[in-house]
Amino acid sequence: MKPAFQAQLVNDPFGDPALYIEFLFQRRAILFDLGDIHALSPRKLLRLTHIFVSHTHMDHFYGFDYLLRVCLGRAMTIHLYGPAGFIDHVGHRLGGYTWNLVENYSDELVFIAYQWDGGDKMQRARFCCRKGFVKETLKPVPVIDGLLLNEPGLQVKSAVLDHKIPCLAFLLEEPLHVNVWKNKLDEMGVPKGPWLQELKQAVFEGKADDFPIVARWCDQKGRHEKHFSLAQLKAKILNMAPGLKIGYVVDILYNEANLQVLERLLAGVDWLYIEASFSQEQAASAFEKYHLTAWQAGQIARRVGAKRMIPFHFSTRYKKEPERLYQEALLSFGGQTLGATGNESAARG
Ligand SMILES: [Zn+2]
Repeated sequence: MKPAFQAQLVNDPFGDPALYIEFLFQRRAILFDLGDIHALSPRKLLRLTHIFVSHTHMDHFYGFDYLLRVCLGRAMTIHLYGPAGFIDHVGHRLGGYTWNLVENYSDELVFIAYQWDGGDKMQRARFCCRKGFVKETLKPVPVIDGLLLNEPGLQVKSAVLDHKIPCLAFLLEEPLHVNVWKNKLDEMGVPKGPWLQELKQAVFEGKADDFPIVARWCDQKGRHEKHFSLAQLKAKILNMAPGLKIGYVVDILYNEANLQVLERLLAGVDWLYIEASFSQEQAASAFEKYHLTAWQAGQIARRVGAKRMIPFHFSTRYKKEPERLYQEALLSFGGQTLGATGNESAARG
């Protein structure tokens, strides 16, 4: 299955957390956490539509100003999600600048900030550039089962965890993965084109079998179109499978309550990005700071049944030996005890 998303950690494991997820067939991206993002080109930043911030400790939210700098003057709406108190944090960051000349900008940059406390509603506020980013409170939106974003072909779910403050973990899920069989398309004598995106959209939206799909294209002989029903194309050229699940977990205390929440959110996740701040030798420090050790990260990955684990967000005290944390996490994930050789578990990771 060729995934519809490409995920990339913006920084090395010692840098600020930020996971950039690009949609391969659209000019669009989302971001988990907003730490230092200078490594992302303006072109990549301008593709962002939704940003999910686990919590507003500085290393997870420091990149907001750079994002603002790059996007200012552009016609963009960026949706920002975070835990309780998040709307004020966004408002305070915007309030740190003077905005007296923005009312005449031809293009409007808009931030819509959402804050979720784990309940059945999300508070919302809008900040528009031409109004000097003054907060406009919007009506709250309902949240069912932690679902913060629900689009055809894309869902983002969340859960609140304990980091001595509320901290959000995220799951990005492609509910259904739809691939086009290129060879079968060739057999039909119809070329690829934007109509395939419309076809996928119809599948994601659960349209009826007789829903009409029109393939349109141009060549030297002129314009062409062929008419199909959704059912015909499903049977002939589409391959449908369960979609990809990407999990993102940072900055949490290793305790049973947090583990149970993660188990519910992340069961069967394909790729799990998870903090591994300390080595198990420093478990007391990790506990004090409400962070995970690499060993604990591996245990969580095992418990939720992750297919692949990507440990990151390492403490800089391990700068000279990052492999120590990688190996510890992979040994734990693979079910081995510390000190054993890591080959088998590394393969699993
Ligand atoms: Zn933190």
